[in-house]
Amino acid sequence: MNTIPPIKRLGTKLIIYSIITALIPIVMLGAVSTDTINTEMTKQAQEKINDDLNTAESVVNLKLDKISSLNKYIISNEKTINILKNNDTKELKTLAISYKNTSAPDFVVFFDGQGNVVARSNSDVTGDNSYEDLFKKVVNSTGYTSIEVLDKDSIKYENVGELVNIDIKGTDDSIDYSDSVQDSAMALVSIEPIYDKNGKLLGAAMAADILNKDYSIVDTVKDASKDATTIFLDGVRVSTNVQDNGGRAIGTLVSKEVYNHVVLDGKTYYGRAFVVNEWYLTAYEPIYDSDNEIIGMLFVGTPESKFLALQANVRNQTFVVGLIGLLIALIVSYLINRGIIKPLEQLKQGAEWVSNGRYDQKVIVDSDDEFGELAKAFNKMATQINISDEKLKKHAEELKTSYNELKELDKLKSELIAIVSHELRTPLTSIKGYVELVLDGTMGTINDSQKKCLQVADDNIVRLRRLIESMLDLSKIERGELEMYREKVNLRAIVCDVIEYLKPLATEKNIKLNKEVEDIAIEADKDRITQVLTNLIENAIKFSPANESILVSGVLEDEHIHLKVTDRGAGIPKKDMEKIFNRFYQVDSSTKRKKGGSGLGLAVCKSIVEAHKGSIWVESELGKGSTFHIILPISAKDQ
Ligand code: ADP
Repeated sequence: MNTIPPIKRLGTKLIIYSIITALIPIVMLGAVSTDTINTEMTKQAQEKINDDLNTAESVVNLKLDKISSLNKYIISNEKTINILKNNDTKELKTLAISYKNTSAPDFVVFFDGQGNVVARSNSDVTGDNSYEDLFKKVVNSTGYTSIEVLDKDSIKYENVGELVNIDIKGTDDSIDYSDSVQDSAMALVSIEPIYDKNGKLLGAAMAADILNKDYSIVDTVKDASKDATTIFLDGVRVSTNVQDNGGRAIGTLVSKEVYNHVVLDGKTYYGRAFVVNEWYLTAYEPIYDSDNEIIGMLFVGTPESKFLALQANVRNQTFVVGLIGLLIALIVSYLINRGIIKPLEQLKQGAEWVSNGRYDQKVIVDSDDEFGELAKAFNKMATQINISDEKLKKHAEELKTSYNELKELDKLKSELIAIVSHELRTPLTSIKGYVELVLDGTMGTINDSQKKCLQVADDNIVRLRRLIESMLDLSKIERGELEMYREKVNLRAIVCDVIEYLKPLATEKNIKLNKEVEDIAIEADKDRITQVLTNLIENAIKFSPANESILVSGVLEDEHIHLKVTDRGAGIPKKDMEKIFNRFYQVDSSTKRKKGGSGLGLAVCKSIVEAHKGSIWVESELGKGSTFHIILPISAKDQ
């Protein structure tokens, strides 16, 4: 069973990494393409509205050219000059009407040399100087054609109110407008002076084409570009191809922002604008009159929706590409999953079999790639482990048998030692008794050399007895038969007794035995502790040169006593410090044995100390001396 949490599984990680790897380029692609399309869209929109502006301007210029050339034709006509010269107002009126009818301006006016109206196409009123300002510009000059604003007063005799007047409708963000009706006309005006042969100014002819509600310009632009076009007189829409509620959206006012930018500051405005009922990418350009005054604006706008559609299209395509990328990433991770995770799981299963000792189970990976090779190597390894395991088991079995045999032999040895030691002890006691009888003269007088010989025999009997005692002790320890009789004893008293007992031995070498033992009571087997101390102090005497001193100290440390036996004797090499606690081990057996001893003393000491749950070790420096340490718990419950 797979115990790894799903999030930590290699398969999950692979899927996550694949998705991240796929998503990064997709997101980057999305960001780059959105940026590109935005830049491109802005560029295209700008170009488009600039084109529209140019188209609108050329249409206006075309109209201006047309009206101008017609006017020029009229005034250069000999007949016109003669009629004006003769001041034949009736003929002039007929001429004005026919001029209007053939060339289709909204009205035609003839002036005399002083700028007074002498004939007009749309009424019989004459003698006024309604167009004084326009006329002045052609006196002693040439004619001109331009876009002009003709106010209500100047056109009051032209009967064009119907063409001109537009109701004004304000909106929340539009400019404030005091008038409720736009009654001035924005018009294409051509005015040409008429001179006689001598260069005398006879008068002038003026033709005006009113742009208010005249949709020919905006519709021509629409035909060419399909986009929105509007002509503003000041801030009021007077001609447009934008539809609103079934009619043309005229009479509405421009926003303050655009008005300030274009009409007041004289700059072209580019930007988004909400026109009637949708958002446009727009341009507003100032319209100048012949005095270079801004009199209105030309607006062109292209609906933003088509660019947004393009943007959405790109976004959708990016999304689809992204989805495909993700799908591919998922398929790839699934395939990788199958190619890697499955063999890995089989190998893991194999490892579990091996760890459970099921070496005969084989991992099956039927691919010829690295995993296949790994599986083969794994199976081979399992077979080898199986063989080694069998061998090991066999060896272990053999070892066990040998161990049991050895244990049996050891037991026999122990028993033998115990029996032999026991059997030796009785005759030895008897021998010692008889030797002592002979020695102390009970059996008759003996000479000095006999005494000396018997003394040597007695010493050796003592050594032999001690050796037998040690061997008996050790065999008891080995068989777990060494019993401890714990009682409350005074440590200082034990030390004093041992020192007292060994004093003769020390005195032989003029060695001083010192003690610094605290008055401590301890629960322990008095005889065994005495045995340990005797052995240590005896060794210290044995391995100290003559005339030295030995110190036995004992202090209380927490719940333990710390005993030390320090000599300034031969010392023990570092390599032997641990080994001397082994049975029969002596540092240099050849010389040391000369000093007597069997190498069993410290082994017995160690067993006794450990039976009290204590520890024993030595610190020593060769040639300078040794200190044997013993730590013993003072209470029996800790032992
Ligand atoms: P032995 O009966 O030979 O003294 P022990 O087990 O008591 O046996 O000591 C083992 C050996 O450790 C000794 O033979 C001796 O080489 C070394 N040894 C023990 N005590 C001392 C000591 N105080 N100074 C130097 N060597 C020591």
